[in-house]
Amino acid sequence: MKEKDATSHLRDWKIVAENAEPGYTFYFESVMTLGNGYLGVRGSREEAKTTKLDNPLTLIAEAYDRPRALPGVPRDYSQTSRLAPAPNPLSVLFDDGTGILSYKKATVLSERQTLDMKRGTLERRVRFKSKGGRVTSILSRRIVSQARPHLVAIRYAVTPENYSGPVRLTSLLDASATYPDGIVQTKVLSSGREDETVWMEVKTFQTRTRIAEAARHRLSGADGAKAAEKKSEKKAGLTWRFDARRGQTVVLEKVVALMTSVREESPLDAARAAAADAPGFAALEREHAAAWAEYWRDCDITITGDRLVQTMARFFVFQLLQAASKNNVKLGLSASIPAKTMSGPGYNGHIFWDTEIYMLPFFAEQYPEISRSLLRYRHDRMDAARKNAAAARCDGLKFPWESADTGREECPKWLPNHKGGYWRWWGAEQQLHVNADVAFGFWEHYLATGDARFLMGPGLDIIAGTARYWAGRVKETKIDGQVVYELRKVIGPDEHHDHVNNSVYTNAMVRWNLRKALDLVAELRRTSPARYRAFARKWGLNAKELRRWRHVADGIKINFDGATGLYEQFDGYFQHPVQEIKQADVLLMLHQHPEMRTTEIFRRNFDRYHPVTSHGSSLSPGVHVLFALDVGYKDKAYEYEVQACGIDGKRRIGGSDTGLHAAALGGGWSSIVAGFGGVRVMPDCLRVAPDLPAHWKRLEFSVRYKGLRIRFTMSRKRLLMQADRDGRAVTVDVLGTRRRLKPGGRIERKLG
Ligand code: BGC
Repeated sequence: MKEKDATSHLRDWKIVAENAEPGYTFYFESVMTLGNGYLGVRGSREEAKTTKLDNPLTLIAEAYDRPRALPGVPRDYSQTSRLAPAPNPLSVLFDDGTGILSYKKATVLSERQTLDMKRGTLERRVRFKSKGGRVTSILSRRIVSQARPHLVAIRYAVTPENYSGPVRLTSLLDASATYPDGIVQTKVLSSGREDETVWMEVKTFQTRTRIAEAARHRLSGADGAKAAEKKSEKKAGLTWRFDARRGQTVVLEKVVALMTSVREESPLDAARAAAADAPGFAALEREHAAAWAEYWRDCDITITGDRLVQTMARFFVFQLLQAASKNNVKLGLSASIPAKTMSGPGYNGHIFWDTEIYMLPFFAEQYPEISRSLLRYRHDRMDAARKNAAAARCDGLKFPWESADTGREECPKWLPNHKGGYWRWWGAEQQLHVNADVAFGFWEHYLATGDARFLMGPGLDIIAGTARYWAGRVKETKIDGQVVYELRKVIGPDEHHDHVNNSVYTNAMVRWNLRKALDLVAELRRTSPARYRAFARKWGLNAKELRRWRHVADGIKINFDGATGLYEQFDGYFQHPVQEIKQADVLLMLHQHPEMRTTEIFRRNFDRYHPVTSHGSSLSPGVHVLFALDVGYKDKAYEYEVQACGIDGKRRIGGSDTGLHAAALGGGWSSIVAGFGGVRVMPDCLRVAPDLPAHWKRLEFSVRYKGLRIRFTMSRKRLLMQADRDGRAVTVDVLGTRRRLKPGGRIERKLG
C-alpha cells in the first residue's frame, strides 16, 4: 500500500486493508476498532501480542487504574489514571505443524481485513505459507455486540490448503496485553476451565478493579479433537490437537463475556454466567446487525458524488456510536468519551472538553438519552469538582482539564519530549475554559432536546456551580478608572501559548457561563419559587452573590477592537513573536457566541486567524468547515472537509496509531450536517440552509430536534424535509423563512 493513495482503503460502507504493511498495523488496529459504548477492542490480528508493531488493547469504560511510578519518570507523569487493559479476548493461534502462523514467522501470501460498518463486523482473510511450504487459509469474523454489551465473539475458520497432518489450535485470554510503554497494570487473580469454557480474573494494582473474562468455545469440523487446558502466568486457554485434512475447514467459535467489579459484586460469576447463556455466533451476529440496522435508520448519511466524504461520514457515525451507545444508558454507565475513544492508549483514556464541545451535538441531535448520560458523568463528579476548586482556593465547581474515573485532575504536569527528557505542561493549572465548556454542553443539550427538566435540575447545578467558581477566580483591576475583571495565566484552546492573560475565548465563555447562571436562576425563581428556595438553600446562594456574578459578567475583559473588528486572542497576542496558533480559538468563540459577531466581523477574524492556524490539533479542521461556510469561503470549506476526513481516514504512520480522534469524529459529523447540510440548532429554532459542494449530487441524513425526527434530502436544486410521525411540532427556519413542522409533515423548497 503506497502513501500516495492514502485513502484507497475507504470504500463506502467498508474500510478495507489489503496486504497492509506491518508499519500500518497500529493505524488499522485503531481504525478497525470495534466497540459498543461499554468496551472497545482494537482491530488487532488474532495472533497478535503486544510488540513494537502490534497493540491488541481491550478497554472497558469506567475501568481505570493508576499505574505505579516508573523509575526515572516524574511521579506526576506516571501517576495519572488510565483505562486498564483487559486481558486480550481475541487471541487465537494456529500451528500448522511447523509453528504458529503469524506475519513474523510465516509468509503472508495475501491478507484482507474488512471493517463492515453497516453490520459492525471485522473480517479477515489471510493465507499463510510456512517454512515447509504449507499453505493455510484463515477466515475470521468478529463482533463486539451492540445488543449484549458484555460480549465479544469471534468465528475463526481455518483450512489447510495443501497438506494434512497433526496441527494445533489454541485460544487464549491473554493478560500480558499492555499499553505500548509496557507498564503492567494488572495481576492475574485466578484462571480456570470447565469443559470448553475458560476464564480469567485480573485485578488492577491501585484501584483494585477486578476484570473477569469467560470464553466459551465450540469447535466443529475437527473430528476427535480434545481440548487441553493451556495455562501460564498470564494466559489461560485451551489447545485442541487434531489431524487436519487438506481442504477441510475447521471452525472455532469463541464467545467472551467481560465484566468488572465496577458494576458486579462478583465479576467472575457474572462473566461465566453471561458466557454460558450466550447464543451461538450466528445468532449473536444477527442481533448485533439488527441493532446496527436500527442505528443506521436514524443516523445514516448518504452523499452521492464523493467517496471520501461518504465513507468518512459513516465512519464518524460508526465510531461515535461505538464510543457511546444506547448501552451507556441501558447499563447506567457513569462514563464519558475519552479523547481517543476506547480505540487506543493515547491520552490514557482521559476525557477532555472534546466531549461537550465537539461530540455532544451528534448525540444530542440523535439520541438525547446518550448525551444526557454523557453529561451525567460530569454531574456525578461534582464533589471532585468542588475539591478541585477548593484546591485553587475557590468556591464552586472546577472540572478538570483531563478527567477519568474519580473526576480529580488527571492532566500530567510533565510530558515526555523527543529527547528522552520531560517538559512542564500547564494544562492542569491553566486550561480553565473546560469548566465553562462543560456548562455549555448542558445548555446545548437543552437547545437540541428541549429537555427543561434536565436543564433546570442537573444542568442548573453545573451552570451555577461553575459560575460561582469563576466569580471567585477572576482578579479585579482598574483600567482607565473602570473596574475590570481579568483571568491571568491561562491557556485558551490554542495550546501553543501558555501563561497568557485574558484569553478571549475563555473570558467570553466565562461571561456566557455567569449570564446563563443568572438567567436560569431568575427563571427558576419566577416559575417555581419553592424550587428556587430549595436550590438557593442547597447552594447557599444569596442576592449578594448574584450581584457579584452580574458585575463580573459585565466587567470581564473582552479584547475587541471596534476599529478593525478584530478580537485579540489574548492580551498582547497581536505583538507576540509567535503568531502561529494550534487550533480554532477566537473563531470557535465567534461560532459559539453568534451575538458577538456580524458576518463582516466573522470574516475579518477568519482572515486574520486562519492563515496562522497550524491545525496541530485534530479538533480544528472540522469546525473550520463551519466557519468558512459562514463567511462565504466555499472552496476553503471543502478543503477543510478533506482535511477533517483525513485525520483518521488518511492512512499514515503515526496519525491514528494510538487511537482515533474522538473530537474530530464529532467535528466531522457537524461539518457535514451543520456545515454543508446547513442544519443547525439555534436558540429558538432549527435553522436549515444547505450549501452543498458543487460535486455533491445529493445529501441525505436525519436529525432529531426536540423529540421530532426530521429526514432531509437535499441536492443543489431542491430541499425536502420529512418529519416522522412521533413527536411534537417544532419551529424551523428554512432559508430565512420561519415555519412550523408537524409530526408527519413535510416541507419542500426549490434551491439555487
Ligand atoms: C488539543 C486539545 C484537546 C486534546 C485532546 C490537544 O491536542 O489541543 O484541545 O482537548 O488534544 O483531544
